Amino acid sequence: MDFSKLAQNLKDNGFAVSCYATAAEASDYLNSQIDGETVGIGGSMTVEEMGLYDTLKTHNEVYWHWHPEGRPAEEVRALGSRTDVFLTSVNGIAETGEIINIDGSGNRVAGMLYGHKKVYLIAGENKVAPDYDQALWRARNIAAPLNAKRLNCKTPCAVNGDRCYDCKVPGRICRGVALLWKAPTSMQFEVVLVGEKLGY
Ligand code: SF4
Repeated sequence: MDFSKLAQNLKDNGFAVSCYATAAEASDYLNSQIDGETVGIGGSMTVEEMGLYDTLKTHNEVYWHWHPEGRPAEEVRALGSRTDVFLTSVNGIAETGEIINIDGSGNRVAGMLYGHKKVYLIAGENKVAPDYDQALWRARNIAAPLNAKRLNCKTPCAVNGDRCYDCKVPGRICRGVALLWKAPTSMQFEVVLVGEKLGY
């Protein structure tokens, strides 16, 4: 995929950008950049598929509630919210430069807005949409239903597997959304674009 338009618009919006053809190359890069740090990870199939928890923890102090390692997941989630580095993916990224994440518990969207020294946002080519409206549509109608299905939620999107129904059920996973128009000023941001399908 040609990331040139997206990369330029992200740079114009204040984000550092790096592009890799494969997840393996992106993983090597992230492991070279993140070394000897405290690292928090927000829920992300992309990060999981890249095996970043296992590789980063060999030379960093990593907190990810998906891998609590015997501790209460909520405790690990809290520890991950106070790290120097925060890592997660995105639900939709517009070629015009906007970044969107939807969250249920809130830690993932909080982490990409405030509280760390540096945030890495990783996006496979499947997350890219032509503009903001289509990126938001993708986040709501593709990423969120697939996540609901993965979590076996009793939501209409998970049962029918087709789209968002803006449901009102207790198991609704879409409770907050973060939209980055520009890189927030309190942290360093880097978007890592990968020319492979990753996550939802
Ligand atoms: S709002 Fe409800 S129906 Fe829509 S994607 Fe989220 S959980 Fe599914």
